[in-house]
Amino acid sequence: MPKVLVVEDEPAVRDVVEHALSREGIETAAVGDGEAALERLRGQETFDLVILDVMLPGMDGVSVCRELRAGQANRDVPVLMLTARDDETSVVVGLEVGADDYVTKPFRPRELVSRVRAHLRRRRMEADPGPGRRLEFPGLKMDLLRREVVGQDGVAPLTAKEFEVLAFLASSPGRVYSREQIMRHLWDGDFFGEARAADVHVQHIRKKVEPDPQNPRYVLTVRGVGYKFADL
Ligand code: CA
Repeated sequence: MPKVLVVEDEPAVRDVVEHALSREGIETAAVGDGEAALERLRGQETFDLVILDVMLPGMDGVSVCRELRAGQANRDVPVLMLTARDDETSVVVGLEVGADDYVTKPFRPRELVSRVRAHLRRRRMEADPGPGRRLEFPGLKMDLLRREVVGQDGVAPLTAKEFEVLAFLASSPGRVYSREQIMRHLWDGDFFGEARAADVHVQHIRKKVEPDPQNPRYVLTVRGVGYKFADL
């Protein structure tokens, strides 16, 4: 049974989330502040996902995410942030410190559940990736089985989501994808959030794989539309 940690100080929201997840056969644990969340995540338990409210008393959700990624236990667990609709800064900073996704409040429980399910599905697939495939371009190699990208400076330290975006684009060089398409691919079609999260992923990918991130060679911007992998 997958296990999700819910970090939320508002009891009403926490109850809705826990109820919606347990109806789907997902085990939940809940804490009301950031310190308690880190204590739980640094313990012996393994979690499959963390739902992390940004506005928490004391340590905020973004700081919790940063601390989690810097630690040892559960450091790779997917993190889904809950943010206020107008809090773009937290969204951007949260993604930068290693959150995987975010849902803005107020949300429909059904929407949250389908996002959670997409994460859990992806995590299972990553644990058992099936037959491998390699992509090779001048100066860049991708091993889709080992989920490894090798550029001119050696292995590029991509996160799971960055790898997914790059593999998606590089699997069809020259084909243009919109930001929405990229995010839908990441979430197996269950994407309800902000398409500009795709921009953050692409920025990070460029920093890690492009010889000159300001003048990308591999992941190209298609103005007004989205992105494509160069037809090299
Ligand atoms: Ca809150």
